[in-house]
Amino acid sequence: MKIDLIKLKFNDTYSYKYKPFTYCCDKVQNDKAIVFTGEDINDIGGEHEDDGNFIPQFCTSHTEVIKSYEDEWEQTDNYPIQFCPHCGEKIEILVVDEIDVSDKYNELSKQRENLWKRCQRTDSKKKEAELREQVRRLDNQINSFYWLDEWKGEY
Ligand SMILES: [Zn+2]
Repeated sequence: MKIDLIKLKFNDTYSYKYKPFTYCCDKVQNDKAIVFTGEDINDIGGEHEDDGNFIPQFCTSHTEVIKSYEDEWEQTDNYPIQFCPHCGEKIEILVVDEIDVSDKYNELSKQRENLWKRCQRTDSKKKEAELREQVRRLDNQINSFYWLDEWKGEY
């Protein structure tokens, strides 16, 4: 299976979106232990340095409950895989495009800042609730820049 990635650059950082793709088989699509992620990738045999060339991978994901004294927490380790564990097809992940979305990102951040100011200044409870809702929606939009999800073509 082949996955095309779009690299988004904004605000001195970057993230990835993927173009719509078809899974090589249903089994891998329904396998809850297989994740497509750019997070928590276990570094096998080398230092993991974030040099800007790090791209999301298909991984097998293991979640373990770790107990230590009184504490207990869940730890997830993701191990990158190059081949589908179900049908054996090679998994190819390619960055096909790089888009600078800084302008859009900064514009949204500014809008949020202004709305938040208005929200704090208003005396009307109704107006405040409305503004809060708008800020919440903007937050969502801003956060979505970081999500590894399907590329819709533009921001
Ligand atoms: Zn497969």
